[in-house]
Amino acid sequence: MARVAGKIAKKTKRRGAAIAGAKPRKAAPRGVPTRPPRAVALRAPRVLAGLEKLYPEADCALAHGSALELLIATILSAQSTDANVNRVTPGLFARYPDAKALSGASPADMERVIHSTGFFRQKTKSVLGACRRIVEAYGGKVPDTMEDLLTLPGVARKTDNVIMGKWFEKNEGVVVDTHVGRLAHRLGLTWTSRNEKDAVRIEADLMQVIPRESWTFFGHAMISHGRQVCTAKRPDCERCLLARDCPSAFTFPHNKRAARAGRKPAPARRQG
Ligand code: SF4
Repeated sequence: MARVAGKIAKKTKRRGAAIAGAKPRKAAPRGVPTRPPRAVALRAPRVLAGLEKLYPEADCALAHGSALELLIATILSAQSTDANVNRVTPGLFARYPDAKALSGASPADMERVIHSTGFFRQKTKSVLGACRRIVEAYGGKVPDTMEDLLTLPGVARKTDNVIMGKWFEKNEGVVVDTHVGRLAHRLGLTWTSRNEKDAVRIEADLMQVIPRESWTFFGHAMISHGRQVCTAKRPDCERCLLARDCPSAFTFPHNKRAARAGRKPAPARRQG
């Protein structure tokens, strides 16, 4: 275990990654500053303050009673809804109550149980691979460091951030899922990433402008806002209390009319 962690640490240092234990950070595109532009540094605390007012109780919506259950639920949540995952996991954990039982599950049976969450073959491989390593290297317990979590096959950094932040209450990074990626771009909180899917650069940027103690909360709150207000297809800028600090407010075809009708908030009346 220590040898594997050591190898990762060495590799990370050698390649100059900005996030400990993460895949090496891609260099910012030519001409793009690696430090936050002033406008972003000023905007980020206002957005965070707005999210704290809007979602003071923001939390992980995946039902779980242990680090292992949270790990499996997070793997299953990729390209699925939390509600859907929450319908599947009670049956899964009743059938396979611990890492040893999960690691020995028949792939066909697991695929059947988790089928409704989508991408069930790949997810089965990830669950089985992660549980085997947890049993073989960590005595059946989910490890509590980022370096060790990153050695679990098929488990991405996003999942590791969820486990570290939610279960172990350690702020090691910011969860960047589809909602956080989209909102980071719309709210102008990333300056080195090329698009919403560039999770490594988005996370590195967010870690520079959001205080470490808020990383876990920030991820959950951004996800809540992305689900409830700033949806992918129809962001509701008229109802959005972050609009005064959002460079994308009222720039979408469906709400440009509202802006023309004078419903765009005046920049002077900032919230937070
Ligand atoms: S103002 Fe509009 S684009 Fe900006 S965060 Fe709110 S809903 Fe999203």
